Amino acid sequence: MESTLKRTWAEIDLDALEHNYRTLRRRIGPHVKFLGVVKADAYGHGAVQVSGVLQELGADYLAVSSVDEAMELRNHGTTMPILILGHTPLEQVGKLIDHKITQAVTCLAKAEEYSREALRCGGELTIHIKVDTGMSRLGFLCEGEHFESGVTGICTACGLPGLRAEGIFTHFAVSDEEDEESVRYTKAQFSLFSRVVEAVETVRGQRFAIRHCANTGAVACYQEMYLDMVRPGLLLYGYGAFAQRLGLRPVMTLKTTVSTIKVYDPGTTVSYGRLYTAPATMVMGVVPCGYADGFMRSLSNRCTLMTEYGPAPQRGRICMDMCMIDLTDLPEVQVGDEVEIFGKNNPVETLAEQAGTIPYELVCAVSKRVMRVYFRHGREVERELLLRV
Ligand SMILES: *Cc1c(COP(=O)(O)O)cnc(C)c1O
Repeated sequence: MESTLKRTWAEIDLDALEHNYRTLRRRIGPHVKFLGVVKADAYGHGAVQVSGVLQELGADYLAVSSVDEAMELRNHGTTMPILILGHTPLEQVGKLIDHKITQAVTCLAKAEEYSREALRCGGELTIHIKVDTGMSRLGFLCEGEHFESGVTGICTACGLPGLRAEGIFTHFAVSDEEDEESVRYTKAQFSLFSRVVEAVETVRGQRFAIRHCANTGAVACYQEMYLDMVRPGLLLYGYGAFAQRLGLRPVMTLKTTVSTIKVYDPGTTVSYGRLYTAPATMVMGVVPCGYADGFMRSLSNRCTLMTEYGPAPQRGRICMDMCMIDLTDLPEVQVGDEVEIFGKNNPVETLAEQAGTIPYELVCAVSKRVMRVYFRHGREVERELLLRV
């Protein structure tokens, strides 16, 4: 690798992505559609590159959070269906229609707005109805006494001119937790969703083409909930306990290099806040990766990075642009050597736990100044830096 790369970079293993897709595809079988969730720049992995691979491998659908994320894909060769899971402002409906982008519809008021705007544009907007079965975020409220009004609202929305109701979906709150109460809750959500779908289909005398609800937890734990399409995100990228159980591989490895090595006397205090004091003479490496690169400050003084020769404890506060690692027991490490922040040899799950968060947040946090280096068929195929250099 040339010297410009020798700061901090993320290696994106598209072969691992392919392996994960194929493994999940085998699991769901040929008759269930596969929607790849590529919101938030494909969880930090690069939405254009990830979508390119998924399209090539025959995935059926993609999902993003916003019209801008959808347009990024449309402008870079993605022709497959795209579902926007989040809010799209009214003024953008024409764009959705022009670019064949599917929109989630979360309440009757939105459906009515979208319908009027679609008619004004003279086109038809494809929609998926979102049902709130207990996530209590977006969607037609259908729990308990809201069942009838929810079903009626959905039927009205589906019948509005200018809208084509292709799909209906719901989202689980605890499908990735395996305790009894969570299993009970997930099954109750699924049961309610099934009843809502059935009621709406009966009233309308028409079936939805695509009913879906299975996120990562449900793909891993509830085969009976696959319906017409599954909707995994995290599994595709190979993180978390379920990914490990299913033999999936982590797609991203975040790497940095040793920029400086120094020797400190006993009693020397290290970095902002003087969190760490050298107990003896010690060798400390400075690595150019800090919280502005996505290496969270909450990990300060409590995590371990991986060198070629073994683990190096991180010492003192993580700064904006760099942090310090303890090389006292690793005399082989030299200036210029690679250090893994997380990835194949230093599981992101461990770091996430130490940071009191989840792997999702760590991979999404990798910032735009970290170059993404893409590997396919065992070779480097692309480098992308998201800075406007
Ligand atoms: C983000 C998201 C997913 C994917 O979630 P994972 O836990 O990464 O599988 C699926 N569905 C919806 C509605 C989402 O917002």
